[in-house]
Amino acid sequence: MKTTKITRDEVRIQVDEVRDQVPYRKCPRCLKMKPLDEFGLRRMGTVGKHGGDILANQSHCRSCR
Ligand SMILES: [Zn+2]
Repeated sequence: MKTTKITRDEVRIQVDEVRDQVPYRKCPRCLKMKPLDEFGLRRMGTVGKHGGDILANQSHCRSCR
């Protein structure tokens, strides 16, 4: 019998505010509220509870990196 292991990546996103259905996050460096698009995702490499990696949003916005 063959067993197939299903792994699923988890995404953890921190959002400070939602305006017009757009999630915003406050950058801790420039202290500006920016849409989540300005923060990329990073792969944390931690094994989540479904066996996949955990993806989290970057803490600093694009212009601060
Ligand atoms: Zn910033």
